[in-house]
Amino acid sequence: MFVSHCGEVMPSGFLPLAAGSVRRESAVRLYREAPLFRELRDPDALGGKCGRCEYREICGGSRARAHAVSGDHLAADPSCPYQPA
Ligand code: SF4
Repeated sequence: MFVSHCGEVMPSGFLPLAAGSVRRESAVRLYREAPLFRELRDPDALGGKCGRCEYREICGGSRARAHAVSGDHLAADPSCPYQPA
């Protein structure tokens, strides 16, 4: 979890998607309940090859890289060379 200087709560400083603001809500509540954090903890929400990869529960790929390249934080990690069956 990353909290910006404006109070926005994001998954990390490299994934600039705000789940909410600590100025309006509890950071703990956002981490536990915000849809963005919930979907990031759900390996079945992943798309592309990460979504069908047998390692998605222990790896999951970089959500920041996926977002930076495709605009979709749940897309496949573009830097991974592994090809799931
Ligand atoms: S980054 Fe690669 S190893 Fe990790 S879940 Fe995605 S496809 Fe699988």
